[in-house]
Amino acid sequence: MAVLRNFIGGRFVDGGARFEDVNPATGAVIAEVCEADAEIVDAAVSAARAAMDGDWGQSHAEARARMMERIADGIEARADEFVAAEVADTGRPIAVAEALDVARGAANFRAFAAMARAEGGESFETPGGGVNPRGAVNYSIRRPLGVVAAICPWNLPLLSMSWKVAPALACGNAVVAKPSEETPATATLLAEVMASVGVPDGVFNLVHGFGEGSAGGFMTAHSQVDAISFTGETATGEAIMRQAAKGVRPVSFELGGKNPAIVFADCDFEAAVAGVARSSFFNSGQVCLCTERVYVERGIYEQFVAALVRAVDAYVIGDPLDRATTMGPLTSETHRTRVLGYFEVARGEGAEVLTGGGVPDLAGAYVLPTVWAGLSNSARILQEEVFGPVCHVMPFDGEDEAVALANDTKFGLAASIWTRDVGRAARVAGQVKVGLTWVNCWFLRDLRTPFGGSGLSGIGREGGRHSFDFYSETRNVCLAL
Ligand code: NAD
Repeated sequence: MAVLRNFIGGRFVDGGARFEDVNPATGAVIAEVCEADAEIVDAAVSAARAAMDGDWGQSHAEARARMMERIADGIEARADEFVAAEVADTGRPIAVAEALDVARGAANFRAFAAMARAEGGESFETPGGGVNPRGAVNYSIRRPLGVVAAICPWNLPLLSMSWKVAPALACGNAVVAKPSEETPATATLLAEVMASVGVPDGVFNLVHGFGEGSAGGFMTAHSQVDAISFTGETATGEAIMRQAAKGVRPVSFELGGKNPAIVFADCDFEAAVAGVARSSFFNSGQVCLCTERVYVERGIYEQFVAALVRAVDAYVIGDPLDRATTMGPLTSETHRTRVLGYFEVARGEGAEVLTGGGVPDLAGAYVLPTVWAGLSNSARILQEEVFGPVCHVMPFDGEDEAVALANDTKFGLAASIWTRDVGRAARVAGQVKVGLTWVNCWFLRDLRTPFGGSGLSGIGREGGRHSFDFYSETRNVCLAL
């Protein structure tokens, strides 16, 4: 049985208690994981602090960029192992793990290596006069924040961890990272890569465990952690924010969503059906960006819903390692229980089930992709994030109603708009209260663009220089002439 250890100061160390890592497609225990107790988390934070106080704290961006390119090379060299680990941990189809998780894991390090080289500051020539007769040159310098805690969710384990660790290292911070207890495998491989490509001791540390009363809680409570980057549920974000208040530490939060798709009658019909199906059911609906509310202009509603149901019924549900499979299980039995709870809620609220609504005849944490209709926007399944392969369809009349329905939520992460009318796309995109709007596409990413949500969906933006704005501090120098 594989044992997944914590990685501290460049060495793998055991934890006190151990917990099991389970493959959701088979129910098999695939590894034992060493849970970091308070002492181990303290050792990880101390190792990171020592790195900041040593050479790493004075490192140059060029050296960091080269190191990050070696990390990307290291991930790519072991791509097969990363793919196998991600599939076994998450249950997602192997082709997705290849094309998304591992490719993006490496790409994140390369992208932020390039940004480390390119990123500059601002400068101003300030004229003299008044009480300051001498002129000056003002210029800004970036400095790392120090020790960054990176706390990650289970849905895109390597992708979300590298999305935090890469910019944090690019800016010269030392990191203590924690993967989700549900998906600890690729983070452990990442630690092996860090060690093998010569990342200095203490610059990257990994702790395993759970939230409150375990590694996650000990990280956020630690006074030597200078900043917290967290991706996960909104309720967890609220708990972490209370901890971050002690010491007035900055947070970057990527939280939940309840994302709308707005389909106008003038859309490219086939592209919209395929796009909405993908946005709702990709990775069994377990992407924060996934659509859970579909609003369709009344003129094409019946036709669109029939086509969407056909697209959903075409999913091949089964073994993630079978390349014919297009939908795997949910990430765990625990999460399946939660999603099935929402199936009950929908039933109780009187939702019409257009397809799905139950579980397939398969062992493992599977649920059927499900389309609901017939509820009003105030229903719980239209207001709460289900985070499974589900969506609710509803007709609308005109742009104003579409915008009002889309904005009728406390979340504000992503929206997709399907129309051939460019002016309408721009008008609606300007009014939906979300951090990310896709027009005639979904999940099409450029890593230089700002990523993040409004309202309950998060605080701050990451991506490109926006990540640099979080993971570094800009200081101004005023040089009198
Ligand atoms: P979660 O909040 O349960 O857990 C996320 C991480 O936080 C885990 O590592 C967990 O161990 C840790 N944690 C839990 N309680 C903690 C505490 N009190 N203190 C410190 N750490 C704690 O989230 P999840 O179920 O793993 O992930 C799914 C959620 O993540 C969904 O809501 C999804 O929308 C969201 N998500 C958002 C984005 C985004 O970019 N906005 C991306 C991916 C996932």
